[in-house]
Amino acid sequence: MLINDLLARTRAHEALINAALQRVVARGWFVLGPEVAQFEQAFSAYLGLSHCVTVANGTDAIEIGLRAIGMKKGSKVATVANAGMYSTTAILAIGAEPCFMDVAPDTHNVALEEVERVIALGIDAVIVTHLYGRAVADIEEVARLCNAAGVRLFEDCAQAHGARINGRKVGSFGAASSFSFYPTKNLGALGDGGAIATASDEVAAVARSLRQYGWAQKYQVSRAHARNSRLDEMQAAVLSEFLPLLDATNARRRHIAQRYSDAIKHPRVSLPSWTGEDYVAHLFVVRCPERDALRAHLRGLDIAAEIHYPLPDHRQPVFGATYSEVFLPDTEQLATDILTLPCYPEMTDEQVDLVIDGINAWVA
Ligand SMILES: *Cc1c(COP(=O)(O)O)cnc(C)c1O
Repeated sequence: MLINDLLARTRAHEALINAALQRVVARGWFVLGPEVAQFEQAFSAYLGLSHCVTVANGTDAIEIGLRAIGMKKGSKVATVANAGMYSTTAILAIGAEPCFMDVAPDTHNVALEEVERVIALGIDAVIVTHLYGRAVADIEEVARLCNAAGVRLFEDCAQAHGARINGRKVGSFGAASSFSFYPTKNLGALGDGGAIATASDEVAAVARSLRQYGWAQKYQVSRAHARNSRLDEMQAAVLSEFLPLLDATNARRRHIAQRYSDAIKHPRVSLPSWTGEDYVAHLFVVRCPERDALRAHLRGLDIAAEIHYPLPDHRQPVFGATYSEVFLPDTEQLATDILTLPCYPEMTDEQVDLVIDGINAWVA
């Protein structure tokens, strides 16, 4: 069993996909055309925001989004260190300086005290990541703290399309937010894709210029540090077909997560705590002190399990000894005992049972 079966997904939606691709081929317009405009409109409406600016991938969405909210060379940007290095890569790409925050061990999301701590250090922006598809429970309080201190808040929603807090979707709490449409994400294309979402006309206008050479209009470059980072029409057409399915596929993911939560019972395995619409079950991550042994046991049963993510950002080789004095105890502990189980909408109930039985039968 795979950790995620993309072939099962394309098979399940083959007719939709073929019709979308054929529509684009027949039109002969391949980059930033009517499919992109239509998807941007539909996705911003889904989020309840006035603007969506699509780009080439989710990391570009963070980079361009950060620039659009005013971050530049030398800016100090706080982020968590347990989210796969994507936000840190974007921070480094703009010449800004990362400032790492620890997470709460029960949620794997940023701890509120850490947000308070970095605001007191005089940072310019905070990135919150709604990790594993679980919305940051304190996001409203985080937004209040940032606003009061004049700190920009940016949400990385690459794993959390459709997750809600108090009925409001993630991506709408900060100055801007980013999404990835990498194929395995909850809303995934058939290749790379990403988007910036915002309620601000100004942030959207800057992001639109930055994604296309810094143009004010065609062939007139008015902004420095711009990129070519565009979503293509085929991906937009496929995403427009998948978007109406998102709430149902998220519900299916949550159903699988609920079955795991109800049925996995093992003294060495602790399960994530989650409540409902705050979690779109992008990844189902358990903790186990003998994580590597559990993973090997599952592999022996032909069940893939992965580690998201094994090396915290501040320990990545790119930094050398720069952060050797920085300790993020919960982030570092989690990296040693987390394990991701298969959880994707096309999984069959029988496959879910195999995972449950496999873990329950494990002799630690
Ligand atoms: C996938 C992901 C990204 C990056 O998206 P890409 O489209 O792969 O560049 C950013 N942040 C998080 C949390 C992700 O999971």
